[in-house]
Amino acid sequence: HDIIFVTPGADLRYLTGYDALPLERLTCLAVRRTGEAWMIVPTLEKPSALAHKVPDMGIELLDWQETQNPYSLLLSAVGQPQRPLVNNLMWVEKAFGIQGASGTNVELAGKLLSDIREVKTPDEVTFLHEAGAAIDQVHMNMHKWLRPGRTEREVGKDIAEAILAAGHVTVDFVIVASGPNGASPHHELSDRVIQTGEPVVVDIGGTMASGYCSDCTRMYVCGEPPAEYLDHYAVLMAAQEAARLHARPGVSCESVDAAARSVLESAGLGEQFIHRTGHGIGMETHEEPYIVVGNKSLLVPGHAFSIEPGFYFAGKYGARIEDIVTCTEDGIKSANNTTRELVVL
Ligand code: ZN
Ligand code: ZN
Repeated sequence: HDIIFVTPGADLRYLTGYDALPLERLTCLAVRRTGEAWMIVPTLEKPSALAHKVPDMGIELLDWQETQNPYSLLLSAVGQPQRPLVNNLMWVEKAFGIQGASGTNVELAGKLLSDIREVKTPDEVTFLHEAGAAIDQVHMNMHKWLRPGRTEREVGKDIAEAILAAGHVTVDFVIVASGPNGASPHHELSDRVIQTGEPVVVDIGGTMASGYCSDCTRMYVCGEPPAEYLDHYAVLMAAQEAARLHARPGVSCESVDAAARSVLESAGLGEQFIHRTGHGIGMETHEEPYIVVGNKSLLVPGHAFSIEPGFYFAGKYGARIEDIVTCTEDGIKSANNTTRELVVL
C-alpha cells in the first residue's frame, strides 16, 4: 500500500480538523506513504476548506468544478497508486470512483486508522470528560421532564433541547424506553404514555464543539417498581461496578466484558444480557476498542470506552447502566458521575 484515500467523516476530521459533511460531491484526502498529501474539494466548498486551514497543514488543496470529473483530477495529481487503501466508512460510490479512475482495486484501511484513533491524547481525554460532564447535567435534571402521563416523545423532545443547552452542538440519540419498551436496547421514541411504577431506560448522547461524543444511560422510575425488578437491578449495579473495578492497563477488553457478565450469569441473568459490555468512543459514539468476547486487545492508558451491562425481559422491562470511562495509568476514570442507583422520581 502506498496511499490512503479518506472521505468526510470522523477519520477526516481526526486527521485534518476539517469536519466536511459527507455529501454526493467528492471531497477526498489522499496521503502518500512518503507523507505527501492532497485534498480535493468541490470549488463551492473551497472557502470552507480554507477556513479550516487545510493548506496550512502541508496538504495541497485541489478543487473541481461542477462539470469536471473529480476522480481523474485527483488521480492525475497523486499519480498511479499501488493497492490503495480507503477509510472503512467511505461511501461505496466514492470507492468505486477511485477504483475506476485508477484502474486498480482499493482495499479497506481496516484497523490502520482506528489503531491511531482509539488511544486518546490527554487533550482528547479532557474533551471526553467535558462531554461526560455535559450529559451528566442533563441526567441531573431528568425530574423536570420525566413523569407519568407524558409520552416518551414529549420527554425525549425536552431532553434533546437540554442536551444542546448543556453544551453539545448536536443531539446524536435520545432513548426513552418505558416499561416493556425498555426490553429493546435501541428503542426509538414512541407515543407510549409513561405509567407509574414503570422503569424507564434513558440513554442519551451528543457531540461537543470539540468533536467528541457523550453517551450515558441512567435508570428512572416514577413511583414503586416491581420488587423482583429491584433485585435484578442490584445485580446489575454489582456487574457494572465489577467491570469498572476490573478495567485497567494490561487487562484484555474481553476480560472487562467477562467481569460484568459473570456477575449477571451467577445471578441467573446471563440470558437477559444480550449485548456486549461496551464500545470505544471518541469522535464517533461507537469505535474501537469494543468490550466484547473475542477482543483480546489489552487496555492501555488513553483508551476510552463505555461500560454498559444491562438486562432485558421481553414484554416486561429492561435496564442498563452506562458510563464512559478513560483508562489511566493504574485504573480508569469515569466521565459520568451521577448516581448509578435507580432514580425514583
Ligand atoms: Zn448509550
Ligand atoms: Zn454506549
